[in-house]
Amino acid sequence: MGTGWFKVVNLATASIRVFKEREKPIKNRHPWIFSGAIREIVQGVPQPGDVVEIIGENNQWLARAYFNPRSQISVRILSWDPDERIDEEFWRKKVQRAVHRRQAIGIKDRGTTALRLIFAESDGLPGLIVDQYEDYLAVQFLTLGVDIRKTLLTRILEDTIKPRGILERSDVNVRKKEGLEKVVGLLAGTAPPESLKILENDKAMMADLYRGHKTGLYLDQRDNRQLVCQQSHVEGREILNVFAYTGGFSIYAAINQARKITNVETSGSFLGAIKQNLDLNKLARPQDQYIRGNAFQILRDFREEGRQFDVIILDPPKFANRKQDIPSACRGYKDLNLLALQLLRPLGLLATFSCSGLVNEDLFQKVLFGAAVDAGRDVQIIQRLGQAADHPVLVTFPESAYLKGFICQVS
Ligand code: SAH
Repeated sequence: MGTGWFKVVNLATASIRVFKEREKPIKNRHPWIFSGAIREIVQGVPQPGDVVEIIGENNQWLARAYFNPRSQISVRILSWDPDERIDEEFWRKKVQRAVHRRQAIGIKDRGTTALRLIFAESDGLPGLIVDQYEDYLAVQFLTLGVDIRKTLLTRILEDTIKPRGILERSDVNVRKKEGLEKVVGLLAGTAPPESLKILENDKAMMADLYRGHKTGLYLDQRDNRQLVCQQSHVEGREILNVFAYTGGFSIYAAINQARKITNVETSGSFLGAIKQNLDLNKLARPQDQYIRGNAFQILRDFREEGRQFDVIILDPPKFANRKQDIPSACRGYKDLNLLALQLLRPLGLLATFSCSGLVNEDLFQKVLFGAAVDAGRDVQIIQRLGQAADHPVLVTFPESAYLKGFICQVS
């Protein structure tokens, strides 16, 4: 380990020295180094995306990483092993390991053909997202470090997974922070169809890999759809699915014989997709309702009308993208949850989610507390929810825990 200065010189790559007080998180295997932690570049002139050596105050070797001076997160660590070179073999091994991990826990064995194969930092591949939908891959290169290695990574994905086609879905805002444009396009093989049928826990769903949110579906909610909409929760009950997208939760609720499902969604085409998904599962439900509009307003209207529900699902988009957004995000969550609590029948269930990584579970529970007090109702958390197992949380990287939810029973 860390033989220090001579090793660095021998490797002849650029080295970045960090401030002494910033060494500890690196030793503790946190993969990010912010620009403010960098004391100096002590050797060479690293180009954006280059592999660099990270050294401490006393020249001791700390880690190997890729570098992007345009990003606030200027360094993302790839290895803490001084003998591990960042060559093709390195990337190949990381990809294989991520795929094997999913095989070992059998996500695909359970009637599921869409799953996340690579979850970026959590799988030791900072900035790389790879989702499988049937025989196709949808890929996001979120950082410059993986963007410049796109050709290599695509070839490795082809060799390892042998997909029919690989589609790039790098149309995400975070790329801007890395100095990258949005890109969508075929990287290899055959183009996936515009609408692809996948299975999730034996339920059929259509995924639009080109225009769908994320890479097509919210795969991270797979387990939660099952848990929230289990038969004992929904059978014979009236469900309100707010922020419904293409109806993930509604499909499960319909299969488990919910009496009536009201879907609320801002996009008309997603509402249309819910009906198609129900048809696909041979569920004819003339009693269901599809309401297009702003969820905040619609919930207020329901309150005015005195409408009541037995189960309410709140799965809003990310409200907090930056630290400054946290207070307004919490106000948004509080408003929504307060409205939902006011719309629930006695003994009703609220399944409430936040996918804002910056709002941690503690804070989200406090928001729920505020809503419960204002609503004047007893709220008991009966289950805590997180992201599905193919979106693992790396304990040395708490930022990877972003999705949290509660199933609550309301007095
Ligand atoms: N529960 C879904 C995922 C929800 S994603 C699933 O399991 O697949 C959030 C959804 O909220 C998106 O489809 C987005 O179009 C919708 N949305 C965003 N803002 C909204 C608003 N103010 N009112 C209603 N829907 C909104």
